Amino acid sequence: MKINTIFKILIAITLLFSITTFADYVEVKMPSGKTRKLYIVKDNKLVELVNIKNYIPDAIVDMKYATKDSMFKKPVYTENKCLVKKELGEKLKKANEILKKKYKKRIKFWDCYRPWSVQKIMWSLYPKKGYVAHPAWGSNHNRGCAVDITLTDLDGKEVNMPTKFDDLSKKANHNYQKLPKKVKENRWILKYIMKKVGLNSIRSEWWHYNLPKPKRYPVINIKLEDIK
Ligand SMILES: [Zn+2]
Repeated sequence: MKINTIFKILIAITLLFSITTFADYVEVKMPSGKTRKLYIVKDNKLVELVNIKNYIPDAIVDMKYATKDSMFKKPVYTENKCLVKKELGEKLKKANEILKKKYKKRIKFWDCYRPWSVQKIMWSLYPKKGYVAHPAWGSNHNRGCAVDITLTDLDGKEVNMPTKFDDLSKKANHNYQKLPKKVKENRWILKYIMKKVGLNSIRSEWWHYNLPKPKRYPVINIKLEDIK
């Protein structure tokens, strides 16, 4: 065996060891009643989340789950802090720059990284596939790979969009057309720019965007205030 190969194997073993030390496989129950193993990061060292303010210094952060203004009707986040994977932060920075320059608009953040513990409460309140991710698989928000956003003007005033945050009616669907022309245009601008920087949308929520192939990142279950 070549020295190079031995070296690579040693690195792989070290990495595997450090990952298993800072993460857990948790037995989770699926809707079918059967169980599966979910890999959950529980240590700060493996989180790799960045504060959006480091990428967009003037970002408007209004984390709805830190307020009463969400499906929970009470704060479930302990801080108004938007954390995302570095890769996502870079794309959003680019998107915000284009929006400011070409459309005189800015991104307002409603949700970013969401601890897995909150996902479990969310599913217990609204167990509807297609709207809330089942905790057995975890949401892309739990991976730091997704954001819920809207647009504002340059002064930070929200533009008119089809619905408020967490509206689970058909009005939140990207295909919903019974809307004023300006509202459809705002929704289109947001989607167009997000696609342009390489983010994906989901059909049922006009405000949700995520990295492609988000499942390559593990679910994280650390409180917002505990992430450095
Ligand atoms: Zn979302």
